[in-house]
Amino acid sequence: MSIYRDDTLEWITACADVLDENSHYLTKLDAAIGDGDHGINMDRGFNAVMLKIPEVADKDIGTIFKTVGMTLISTVGGAAGPLYGTFFLQAGMKSTGKMELNLEDWLLALESAVAGVVMRGKAELGDKTMVDALSPAVDSLKHSMDDHLSIGQAIQLSAEAAKQGMVDTIPWVARKGRASYLGERSAGHQDPGATSSYLILQAAADTWADS
Ligand code: ADP
Ligand code: MG
Repeated sequence: MSIYRDDTLEWITACADVLDENSHYLTKLDAAIGDGDHGINMDRGFNAVMLKIPEVADKDIGTIFKTVGMTLISTVGGAAGPLYGTFFLQAGMKSTGKMELNLEDWLLALESAVAGVVMRGKAELGDKTMVDALSPAVDSLKHSMDDHLSIGQAIQLSAEAAKQGMVDTIPWVARKGRASYLGERSAGHQDPGATSSYLILQAAADTWADS
């Protein structure tokens, strides 16, 4: 089974919906250890994405993802905009010309997307950032490939791994981004970026459950 071009459009729409629904929640998390704009940033970015999508809806998956990335970079301020922009740009590079993705294609796209975030933000596992949700999701997909699971199952498991990674950030002290300015006081709070990353990957799992 495959993820087709229209499935990726559905996922982007689901991201916009879930980030809109959780905008207040993400902003509340960011208010505790940052400047309280993460939900607003993500919601603004994906609103802009939804306005751009119709222009590329008949193009290949690579063009769609790259358009999402460029739109996020140009509309979302702060740390998360360029990082999520890089995420989608890199996923788009790996999907250039493709009208469908099999599990291996999706793994390569997600792996490259997360590598882009790491390269740009220089965060390591355990620094209490979005990388702590994204990286376990990639590892989970690799295991699922080895176990010959369906795309739908593999992506659900990768979202569960992201959720665990998100929860794991709670006790940690932030070592990157604004939250790191708080030092020890950042402990005891869930990272907002790890939370938005989980929401984005869970949206993929929900959208592609039957793939
Ligand atoms: P800002 O911190 O500029 O206000 P946001 O509030 O939109 O930006 O995003 C904050 C999130 O960005 C954090 O919760 C964290 O997950 C993520 N983040 C910040 N710096 C980095 C980094 N260097 N690498 C990866 N993620 C980061
Ligand atoms: Mg912020």
